[in-house]
Amino acid sequence: MVDHGPRTGDRVALTFDADMTDGMLANLRAGRVRSYANLRILDLLEREQVPATFFLTGKWVQRYPDVTRRIAGNPRFELANHTYGHAAFTADCYDLPRLPVDELAADVAKTFEVIEPYGGRQTRYFRFPGLCHDAAALDALAPLGVTVVDGDVVSGDPFAKAWKPLVRAVLDHVRPGSVVIMHVTEANAAMTDEALPHILAGLRERGLTPAPLSEVLAKG
Ligand SMILES: [Zn+2]
Repeated sequence: MVDHGPRTGDRVALTFDADMTDGMLANLRAGRVRSYANLRILDLLEREQVPATFFLTGKWVQRYPDVTRRIAGNPRFELANHTYGHAAFTADCYDLPRLPVDELAADVAKTFEVIEPYGGRQTRYFRFPGLCHDAAALDALAPLGVTVVDGDVVSGDPFAKAWKPLVRAVLDHVRPGSVVIMHVTEANAAMTDEALPHILAGLRERGLTPAPLSEVLAKG
């Protein structure tokens, strides 16, 4: 389990979670929400040639196969696992739907099966929904050989109403080796694409360079 890479060098990892629950799918079907895929984030990262790592839920991948192909097709982007349906495997994890911990390994394995056909830079990184985990949940994952990645810089972008607090939250805490947690879920994180240019500029001012998560964890 890791929160960040070595505190040497100038590398930081930008990570974007792609949550998808049955409730979110219902919102899409009913037209209450337009999209949970923030393409402006991809546009910006591609235009500026910025590396990033995407923690994908299986249900998000199945809902957005074209966007997943776009992520997998970028040699600067890594793909990682964020469960199948963004369920929690511990009690009291925000308002997330809950699954018993004995279903965790199968859930994560199934998610890899959904992601792997897209190719690209596949990883064995895994992030728990809501970062909620306990000893039992970590034990359950042991057979899968995954690295659990929380992150040390929480942008606070879910349900944000303004972009400036996200920029401040990231730039106040980011250091060499940091793993920054953001979301690519548009309707549930609508300010992230507005904050991102300012975050990238602030990183440059601090002499920090975004890199794929595997590189940040390996050498800092
Ligand atoms: Zn999540």
